Formats: sequence, structure tokens, C-alpha cells
Amino acid sequence: MVHEARVVKPDLKAKYISFEKGEGCFLIDSQGKRYLDAASGVGVVALGYGVAAFGAALKEQADALPYVHGMRFANSTVEKLAERVSHWTPEGMQSTFFCCGGSEAVESALKIVRQYYLERGLPERHRFIGRWQSFHGNTLAAQSVGGHILRRKAQLPLLTMWPHIVAPNCYRCPFSLAPEHCGIECAHELERVIRMEGAESIAGFVAEPIVGAAGGAPVPPDDYFGIIRDICNRYDVVFIVDEVITGWGRTGKRFGIEHWDVIPDVIVAAKGISSGYAPLGAVVLHDRIVDVFLSNSGHVEHNFTFAGNPLSCRAGLVALELMEQQAVVENSALRGAQLLKRLETLRSFPFVGDIRGKGLLIGVEFVEDQATKKPFPAEFQVNQWVNRIALELGLVVYPGGGTADGVTGDHILLMPPLVISADETDLLADRLTTTLQQFETELRARKDKGI
Ligand code: PLP
Repeated sequence: MVHEARVVKPDLKAKYISFEKGEGCFLIDSQGKRYLDAASGVGVVALGYGVAAFGAALKEQADALPYVHGMRFANSTVEKLAERVSHWTPEGMQSTFFCCGGSEAVESALKIVRQYYLERGLPERHRFIGRWQSFHGNTLAAQSVGGHILRRKAQLPLLTMWPHIVAPNCYRCPFSLAPEHCGIECAHELERVIRMEGAESIAGFVAEPIVGAAGGAPVPPDDYFGIIRDICNRYDVVFIVDEVITGWGRTGKRFGIEHWDVIPDVIVAAKGISSGYAPLGAVVLHDRIVDVFLSNSGHVEHNFTFAGNPLSCRAGLVALELMEQQAVVENSALRGAQLLKRLETLRSFPFVGDIRGKGLLIGVEFVEDQATKKPFPAEFQVNQWVNRIALELGLVVYPGGGTADGVTGDHILLMPPLVISADETDLLADRLTTTLQQFETELRARKDKGI
């Protein structure tokens, strides 16, 4: 069949908008139309587009040395980045394995944790617990521990059947409890599942501090992660926190987990670490993990060809330096608060169910009925519908489905560059308001037609 699908994308028949240039918080398409990028690509471009320092540094690195085989040799750029990362991570977390993205980082973390138990003479600890309605990447182990039901569906026969608990969601409590006296059942669920599955087989528990793509940024109850940390300690289970979206200032703290003063055993990160100027992921290990390797075999059996390549690491180094200089963590907290406040007015639309998040990771959930929180029928594809209108109006948001129960429900995520200004934040709120006005008109027209 003669066709035009040279690049394989989710929709092989669609004509995608082609972005050719970026300036600050704006993307420019092949027709010259400007869009405010309220998705930072997909939570990636923390410093915005067109930052000249990257071009100069990456040229210098490519001219000097683009690549070393990280398994066999060292390189000063990679060492410098690891040092810099350790200034961002919590106390006691100073050893990093670099890779090329979030899924690779999750896979790497699972394999390293498995080996940690082998080093300790506990080979039966090889299973991981994840959470429903969470996302840890699209490779098979990452999908196995992840709980994005719609994205797992096609691959189910290929996945490892690890246990899952529910993720916290106070707007739609999985236990139908009110936050004031819920006893944080969603956290205690971890203990029940560990006991039922057999603690002796469990290696780790994986969670996003605030669920991104699979949940639309529901913020967990205050005590949630303290309880999780305590359960992991008591059952000797490694706590892996997936900061792929929430890391590097996205939620108004360096890492999302810092909101709850909890120190994990492993941090998995990617996206904002290089602000999108080169592919980069990271697995940061607590000393208590590294010490076990050091006092046993001293050997970590894991690598990728492009793991810790100097070019990507140079992008990471420039990004972290600029993020420190430009105080993006503070700006994220400030602009996030401004945006949340502005978005409160959206609650007057009858189809806005919830608005939540921290820093510049904000979710807006849509419902057919505000009182009952009933989601729209899946076939309405409301998140895609809102996304289409937003694009027409020059606003890029990140749409997601399965928000209510993993299958139905709709949300959009707002996660603009962390350097967004006060005026641009207002513009974002204005364009989203216009988008929802337009959606309201189209929804009414659809209902009037009896569809
Ligand atoms: N973990 C989380 C929380 C993510 O949001 C993502 C991607 O969106 C991943 C892991 C996978 O990262 P990547 O797409 O870079 O493989």
C-alpha cells in the first residue's frame, strides 16, 4: 500500500502539527502560528526553548568528545553531573546511574534493587509492588509495575503480574472515605498487600509523589508518604520514588517527595534534568543501597550503550546550572500558586470537577455531573476534545484519560516551563478559560442535536 506514514506515531492516518521553532514558553509551527506551551513538551522543557547556552556547550562537548563507553571508562563531564545531582537530591543520596529517559531509569532501578537483595543473600526478594492509575514508562517492566490501565491493555499478556495497590485520590477516594477521618487507608493498603503476597518475596514499592499522566495531579494526603516510608522500613522493602515528572522543581520543591519530608531509597528521574536539550535519565541511590554493593561484590550488572554519554550529561550539567541561577524551583512554587488561584474561577463551568496540584504540575478533571462526579462517556473523548480546542486557540495542554477509574474520566495537565513569567501565567489562564468557554458551546450544540 502506498502511504505517507514515514514516521510511526500513535495515529498513522493523522496529520500532526509540525513544530519547527521555540522561543521561551512558546512553540511556533510550520505555518508560523505561536502556541503557549503549557505542557513543556511533556513536562520536559523546564528552561523553555531557545536557550543559547545549550547550543554552545553541546558543540564544545561534541567537538571534544561526544561519547565514551560508560561501562568501561570515565569522563569528567559525567562525573561533574553526578556531583551536581547530589547537591539537588536529599541527604545521603549521592550515587547516580545515568541513562536516556524515564523508562530506562525505571527499568534500571528495578534491576539494581533486585541485585541489592542478591548481594544481601535474599534471592527470593524479586517482586515489585506498584499502584493502579500511575505511570512509570512504556517498556515492559515499567508497564508491569505501572498502573496505567489504558496503556497496559494491549501489552497485558507480555507483562509481569506484580501486585498493585490503589493510588491516593481524595477527590475520588477509592475507599469512599472523607479526607478528615479516612485514616489514610490508601497507605495502609501497602502493608496489607505486602503481608498477603508474602514480605519475603517483595523487593520494592514504586510510586510517583504526585501522579502525572495517569491521574491528573491528585495530591496525596499529608501523612501518606510518612506511612509508606514506615511500612517499607518495617518490611525491608526498598522505596523507589518515580520523580520523572515531579523532579527538578516541577512541583515547587527540588523533588516532589520533599513536600512530605520523606527520604526514599531510590529516586528515578528524567525529563526536566536536561530540559529537553538531550535525552537523559537518572537513577539516584541512597548510600544504604550503595554500601551493600560496596561491602559485597561491588559489582552492578547493568548498562546501556548510551548510558552516561557525555553529550547528554553536558546538557544536564548546563540545565542544572541554569535552573539554580534562575531559581526555577522558587518560580515554580510562585507561579504555580498564581495559576491555581486563577484557575479557581473555572469551577463555575458545570463540567469542571476538580482542580489540583502543586507548583507547576496542575490537573483539571472534567465530569459530566459536578454533584455526582460522574465522568463523561468514554466515547466523547473529552480530554482530546478540549485539547483540540486549546490547540486551535494557541495553547498546548497535556490531555489524559482514565482519570476516574483507569478506564473512564478525563483531565488535562498543565505543566508549563518553570521559567514562565507572571504575565505568561495569566495568559495561560486566559487561554484555558476561552478554551473551556468554547468547549461549553460545542458540548451544548452536541446535546441539542441529541448526540
Ligand atoms: N515515569 C513517569 C512518572 C512518567 O511520567 C514517565 C513519562 O511520562 C515515565 C516514567 C517514562 O519516561 P520516558 O517517557 O522518558 O521513558
